[in-house]
Amino acid sequence: MTVFKTKKELQNFALAAKRSGKTIGLVPTMGFLHAGHMSLIDIARAKADIVIVSVFVNPTQFAPNEDFDSYPRDFERDAKMCEEHKVDVIFAPNREEMYDANASTYVNELMLSRPLCGASRPTFFRGVTTVVTKLFHLAQPDFAVFGEKDAQQLLVIKRMVRDLDFPIEIINGKLIRDEDGLAMSSRNRYLSADERKRALSIHRALLGAKAAILADPGKIDVALHNAKAVITAAEGRVDYVSALDTETLEEPTAKTKHLIVAAAAFFGTTRLIDNEMFDL
Ligand code: AMP
Repeated sequence: MTVFKTKKELQNFALAAKRSGKTIGLVPTMGFLHAGHMSLIDIARAKADIVIVSVFVNPTQFAPNEDFDSYPRDFERDAKMCEEHKVDVIFAPNREEMYDANASTYVNELMLSRPLCGASRPTFFRGVTTVVTKLFHLAQPDFAVFGEKDAQQLLVIKRMVRDLDFPIEIINGKLIRDEDGLAMSSRNRYLSADERKRALSIHRALLGAKAAILADPGKIDVALHNAKAVITAAEGRVDYVSALDTETLEEPTAKTKHLIVAAAAFFGTTRLIDNEMFDL
């Protein structure tokens, strides 16, 4: 396994690999890896000649009041996990390497990035689409794997790839949960034992809403109201609990076939997200 810290090293390596006919799979991450990340890496490993994992806490997707500085980092551990899963290359640039000090170009998706996390984190998706574009140009992947844990991000990336004609396939990885149902996240590290227990209410609320909507699709509002109450009862601060058409991320209509019920909530100062996607 090779670790590249500079953009030039990665791009030269990737271009040479492509010229020699190799396929490249990319898994972008912010590090502090867990089984959710590893499931994406395993998908890439099964399909590509060369697997590249980026480990970069991307400053442009954090607002000034958010957790960029405290975001958990453990490169040694990440590298060991990647080695165990037969990753070929880790790309781990620092902030100065990734962005020129006067960088002034961004990639902006304007529809799917508006609701849900886009409403409470207005510059988040701009940071994501910009860094993913840069990673695509640097790693030259044939395909990239993204997790359904960040379902809106996955949809935004797919839209960007379609709209801007990137010759890259985007592959979904299933949302991986801990045994008790909590969606795995690097941010779970912030939770106290008590907060972690109370945070299970997010998944409970989503499952309750899913069951209620499937039983009576005409009463989505009631189902969402009850789901919020489940999280509030566990002393979580709800950012949103919404049910949207998975294709458009707009309010569901009579034509909606695929629904996403998504939630974001704070436990203590930690903001967690989760979702359930299902057919109506
Ligand atoms: P992050 O490091 O949190 O930015 O996530 C990097 C990639 O891993 C994204 O595509 C995430 O959707 C994915 N990911 C994070 N947590 C999970 C999980 N619990 N299950 C599946 N994929 C995940």
